[in-house]
This record gives sequence, structure tokens and C-alpha cells, in this order.
Amino acid sequence: MTEIIDGDAVAAEVRTGLADAMDALADAGATPCLATVLMSNDPASETYVSMKHSDCEEVGIEARDYEIDPEAPADELYATIDELNADPSVHGILVQMPLPGHVDEREVLRRVDPAKDVDGFHPENVGRLVAGHPRYKPCTPHGIQKLLASADVETEGADAVVVGRSNIVGKPMANLLLQKSETGNATVTVCHSRTEDLAAKTRAADIVVAAAGVPEMIDGEMLSEGCTVIDVGINRVEADTEKGYELVGDVEYESAKEKAGAITPVPGGVGPMTRAMLLWNTVKAAGDAEGVAVDLP
Ligand code: NAD
Repeated sequence: MTEIIDGDAVAAEVRTGLADAMDALADAGATPCLATVLMSNDPASETYVSMKHSDCEEVGIEARDYEIDPEAPADELYATIDELNADPSVHGILVQMPLPGHVDEREVLRRVDPAKDVDGFHPENVGRLVAGHPRYKPCTPHGIQKLLASADVETEGADAVVVGRSNIVGKPMANLLLQKSETGNATVTVCHSRTEDLAAKTRAADIVVAAAGVPEMIDGEMLSEGCTVIDVGINRVEADTEKGYELVGDVEYESAKEKAGAITPVPGGVGPMTRAMLLWNTVKAAGDAEGVAVDLP
């Protein structure tokens, strides 16, 4: 029987598991605080930010909302980041991507205080992760580690294929699987748009993490019997539904489910974990900043 890895359930466990840390912080008189910065009118970005706020509210994290006119000069965004960096009551800063074309995204990533960089995208935090002593693990790959653990998937010695080499998913995922650690020790192959014969690579894998953003590009034919499939993709495809579209992953779920030993669905797999791990990172940031030892799930 194929195990369907329930991201909603594991994410709920993470949120519940944060309660002890929240209590320890409350005892010390501290409330974790996440500041989100939105410089966009894109409805998807607005939705992501409002979901992050309601997630924070659910576990008792204070969420502050900063909005900057997308037409404003980049300096306005930089000044907001500087102000939040200097504010000791703010523990985590999240600048919602993508940013308008006239803003230098790299400068933004460098500008956020690495101690408040709960996305884990600051070059210092990327370097720490690669070097094997991460401060914040980026939320999506961190959440995937939790999903693998929840399904008792052994990574040690496993052949893992990560499809996608983005800075937010593919690269940190590959690095985490490679780490000399309980949740790592895999032999990792990173595939991308220029990879030749992708099917040969995925067919040889015990664990496939699909993060290419190409609807249903990996089907059962490309998988080995009993492998673990983590589908990161969230793709809108036209469909005969009320909204006129539906969400599908990068994996062709029905055929992949026939082959896999364990698989994440879309929606309800990786997505909820990404959201939960932002809360996790924010609570960690608060513990570090306030000098409170917190027990994280
Ligand atoms: P991205 O566009 O930055 O990177 C995609 C990567 O896939 C690139 O490295 C590219 O080389 C590779 N790729 C593209 N086409 C390919 C192909 N045909 N064969 C092999 N590799 C190919 O995307 P991203 O930000 O890493 O996101 C990937 C997907 O995951 C998207 O669908 C995105 O919406 C989704 N996503 C989901 C979550 C979540 O929480 N579930 C979080 C982040 C991203």
C-alpha cells in the first residue's frame, strides 16, 4: 500500500509542538514577532502574506504588516528593512518575493539582518547551511525533512534525486539531504532544465523531490517501485472548475502513486509544511534573540 504523506497533519503537529517554546518565551515576557514586507499588488503575493499572518495568529506569534507602493523607489524598501533590523521587538523579517523590476533582489537578501532572516536566504545563512551548521533552514526543504521523518523514510545511504536547482527549494534541499546528519547522508543528484535523460536519473532514485514548476512532468514510468516521491510543484492548469483552473504538482499523481512507496499529494503535501516551518523559524529567532532556550518540534 502506498503511503500518502499527509502534509496538513504533519504541519498541524508542528504548530501544536510550538506551544512549549511559546510558553517558555511567554514566561520570559517575550512574544515572537514576524514582520512581513509586501511591495507588490499581485493578488497571489497578497494572499501569501495574509495566509502567513493568519498562521502566526493561530499560534500566538505577532505579525506586523508593512506595505510599500510597488512604484516607490527601492530606497523606501531598504529603509523599511533597516528600521525592522534595528527594532528589537521584531524577531523575523520576511520580504515577499517577487519584487518589482527596479528593486535589486540580491541587495534585499543581503540587507535583512541574518539573525532575523527567517526565510534563510541571506548569503550568510546559505553559507552556514552549506557548511553544515545552519541557522535557519529555508522553509520548504526544512518542511520536506519533517515529512520524510514522519513517513520514516531513511535518507542515509539513499539515492536522492532533486529536480530543480532554485535557491529557495532545489539547492537547499540537495544540501540538506547531503548533510552529515540524521536527516541527510544521502547520495544526491541535482537535475535541472539542461539535464539529459532525466527519467534515467529519477528511475534510479530511492527519493525523488520534484521542484521544477512543470505540471505533471514526472509520471509513474519515471519512478522505481517503492520509491518516495515529494512533490513540491504548485501549478495552475486550466480545468473545467468554477475557478477555471486547478492546482497540480510536478508529479502525475495517479500513475506515480501506483509505483511509489510513499508520496505527497498536491495540495496537502509540501505546501502546508512550508507555512508551518516559517512559524518554526520565527519562534527560533525569538528564542535566540531573547536568550531563551526553546524546545522546538
Ligand atoms: P524555479 O522556477 O525558481 O526553479 C525551477 C527549477 O526547475 C530550475 O532550476 C530549472 O532548471 C528546473 N527545471 C525547469 N524545467 C525543468 C525540466 N523540464 N526538467 C528538469 N528541471 C527543470 O522554481 P521554484 O521556486 O524552485 O519552484 C518550483 C515549483 O515549486 C513551482 O511549481 C513552485 O510554485 C513550487 N513551490 C512550492 C512550494 C510549496 O510550499 N509547496 C514552495 C516553493 C515553490
